[in-house]
Amino acid sequence: MSAVQHSTRVGIIGGGPAGLMLSHLLSCAGIENLVVEARDRDTIHHTHRAGILEAGSVAMLRDTGVDGRIDTLGDEHSGIDLRFGGESHLLDFRERVDATVTLYAQNEVFLDLSLARERDGGEVYYEATVSELFDVTSARPGFAFTDKEGARHEVRADLIVGADGSRSFTRRWIPEAERTNYTMEYPFAWFGILTEAPKSSPELIYARSDRGFALISQRSETVQRMYFQCSPETSAEDWSEERIWDELQARVAGPDGLELKTGPIFDKTVLPFRSFVRAPLRHGNLFLAGDAGHTVPPTGAKGLNLAFADVKVLFEAIDSWNGAGSRALLDAYSDTALKRVWKAQHFSYWMTSMLHTRADATPFEHARTLGELESVVSSEHGKRYLAEAYTGWPHA
Ligand SMILES: Cc1cc2nc3c(=O)[nH]c(=O)nc-3n(C[C@H](O)[C@H](O)[C@H](O)COP(=O)(O)OP(=O)(O)OC[C@H]3O[C@@H](n4cnc5c(N)ncnc54)[C@H](O)[C@@H]3O)c2cc1C
Repeated sequence: MSAVQHSTRVGIIGGGPAGLMLSHLLSCAGIENLVVEARDRDTIHHTHRAGILEAGSVAMLRDTGVDGRIDTLGDEHSGIDLRFGGESHLLDFRERVDATVTLYAQNEVFLDLSLARERDGGEVYYEATVSELFDVTSARPGFAFTDKEGARHEVRADLIVGADGSRSFTRRWIPEAERTNYTMEYPFAWFGILTEAPKSSPELIYARSDRGFALISQRSETVQRMYFQCSPETSAEDWSEERIWDELQARVAGPDGLELKTGPIFDKTVLPFRSFVRAPLRHGNLFLAGDAGHTVPPTGAKGLNLAFADVKVLFEAIDSWNGAGSRALLDAYSDTALKRVWKAQHFSYWMTSMLHTRADATPFEHARTLGELESVVSSEHGKRYLAEAYTGWPHA
């Protein structure tokens, strides 16, 4: 049976935040594009992932006409609570850098973007998997995908964008001789829960204790997201609700008597993580965006935000090439995007190493890390750096 043929200007592989946001921006600028996404909409909408959006990411949703739901459902936060030695240190972002972050679950971001693509007549194929790329260095590269009925399709475009996430298939098309992988593995993972409980604190709590790290964050008035550091070999099934609450409570315990508000747990996951960068983010007319090009440990809440930041740079480059015919910004895409990626890698690594405990840490290393935390909370410059990095540097 012959393949269904498609012709477009930009072919996008992956319908996560990076792929759908790029598709939305391109369509707003009148640039024809097509998205192919392996999973079905319901599965993506019910997968719990990121939740903390930088001000620049919020602006991308709000100012480009995606939807106004973030204004009603998003929960704006102007600081975090950095807790160690059982004591809380409130770090006010607005006071330091006049910026905030917004808690708005990735599920909602996906829903907004997928509905906006549908509303605007976007060409998005769900349950369709890309299995092959061709001629990526030519003027008309392409890829093949199989749709949910098993039919083969072939897409030809001027540019191909690999936005297919951390297990990216498209990044293999950057030849080995021309690419570098930068990787950092961590000897721990996060145990994440969703619980039907009231908020335990008005702000997110980033807690370091002798037992390890814990993050107390919020989803809504009635649903909360919490994590604690665990071994990557941990099985979520081995942990009863009672044991999970005891562990979380022990990690935030202190003389101020902070008590977590508990409730039924309806989602448990163990999330291993690593730092990874594939450079360059481009080969010929193939461009990587989002997790396909880099992943960060979740401690700095940068993954989704970096995906949006890549898309902003890439969209402006494509728009300039489409309008003025100049490839200068496309040629600069990888270097421009990677500058922010490495700043975010550093921030995520720094937050992770400062807040987590390692089984092999010497007493010196343990005490030094507490000194590091003390240096941050007792210094205007330290607090300002953390506030600036957490709320996000201005988009390029
Ligand atoms: C538990 C958890 C918590 C997190 N918390 C935060 C946070 O607080 N803040 C933050 O900024 N980030 C966070 N992140 C990271 C964030 O979720 C990711 O960085 C973000 O999803 C990246 O978006 P993306 O579009 O690049 O990739 P993805 O969201 O992974 O989307 C890629 C898409 O490509 C599709 N795909 C893959 N292969 C193919 C193929 N061959 N053909 C077609 N489609 C394909 C996949 O199905 C997927 O839908 C968290 C991640 C996890 C797992």
